[in-house]
Amino acid sequence: MPRDSNPDRPRRASTRAVHGTARRAAGAMSSPIVHSATFTASSHAAMLHELELGAAGDFYQRLGHPTIRAAEQRLAELEGAEGALLFASGMAAISSVLFGHLRAGEHVVALSQCYGGTIEALQWGVERLGWRCTFVDAREPDGWEAALRPDTRILHVESPTNPTLCIVDIRRAAELAHRRGALLTVDNTFASPLGQHPLELGADLAIYSATKSIGGHSDLLAGVVLGAAGKLEPLWRARHVFGGTSDPTTAWLIERSLKTLPMRVAASNANALALAERLARHPDVVRVHYPGLPGHPGHDVARRQMALGFGPVVSMELRDQEQAQAVVDGLELFGIGPSLGGVESLASLPGFTSHRMLTAVERRAAGIGDGMIRLAVGIEDVDDLWADLERSLLRSRVAAG
Ligand code: PLP
Repeated sequence: MPRDSNPDRPRRASTRAVHGTARRAAGAMSSPIVHSATFTASSHAAMLHELELGAAGDFYQRLGHPTIRAAEQRLAELEGAEGALLFASGMAAISSVLFGHLRAGEHVVALSQCYGGTIEALQWGVERLGWRCTFVDAREPDGWEAALRPDTRILHVESPTNPTLCIVDIRRAAELAHRRGALLTVDNTFASPLGQHPLELGADLAIYSATKSIGGHSDLLAGVVLGAAGKLEPLWRARHVFGGTSDPTTAWLIERSLKTLPMRVAASNANALALAERLARHPDVVRVHYPGLPGHPGHDVARRQMALGFGPVVSMELRDQEQAQAVVDGLELFGIGPSLGGVESLASLPGFTSHRMLTAVERRAAGIGDGMIRLAVGIEDVDDLWADLERSLLRSRVAAG
């Protein structure tokens, strides 16, 4: 990562999101989109030099590319990381972490509340590649130590988790992983790079589905992993081998979106908190999961380790699946769809979307009931969002008689 242009007065995160850390240069204010997958050199020796530079070279897009590198550099500067690698999706990022740091027979410990796709990737690796995996409950961190073994290479967590919004004490998880010789990898998608700083809290790698708040407009698919160069190198090899590389247009969109990330995260998080507070008082809502509510079991840890609020996702439990479906179907402003972190608000039943690949028993164990609705809150006017929810809750009550 380039040094801050003024080391005596390091820039704060929202300034780094807009400008990075380098001194302002004259000329274009955004990185050029280089639409070239192959690069020529002035000689055979010069070409081999670019090849040997790997991610830092201009040889072939799957190895390294100037527009992708510009986005990676801005992401690393924002996170205060030594390096960043951009991937074709969040799942390409997560699977590259696993491919890069796990060999056949080695063990990983992950939360049973992890994103459904991550659980599917781990199960795939167990079935086909000989990985060993133990799932632990995010709500019971005292039990995690017993799950770690001498061959455990990775402790993988999310905080807040999807969709039950459990909070993991990242500093404590890092201390545990390191004491037992494992890496701590944190999927920080729900919190966003401005909302939580896993690397500062001791994590080895911070992972994002950049499809979410980093992209922020529901129009791109990407993933990013940040950390020290030595821990990223095996991921770069996995990206190169399996081909989960991003593309110049997506990289450019990410660099552009980063400039408004601070405002988008702050607005969504403020809306989410206001809706969670109102939903918690609504008579038809059985339970609200949101770490910003004082009654949430992770509230104190979330206050300590999160910034700019408590994330854009609020989950609520209704009486049963029928009512949950009626409420979602009755929404006019919220879109019915998966994902989160976009400027537009979305609602879904996570038991039937993000976690549909789990069995009913696994879903129950992860705390995801059939009557749960996940709201991914955007940046619209909060009173309009509330009116939409209130109207739909009322209609579902009338329909149920
Ligand atoms: N991690 C989390 C927490 C997610 O919510 C998602 C997608 O919803 C992913 C990873 C996967 O990201 P992508 O869809 O970009 O592959």
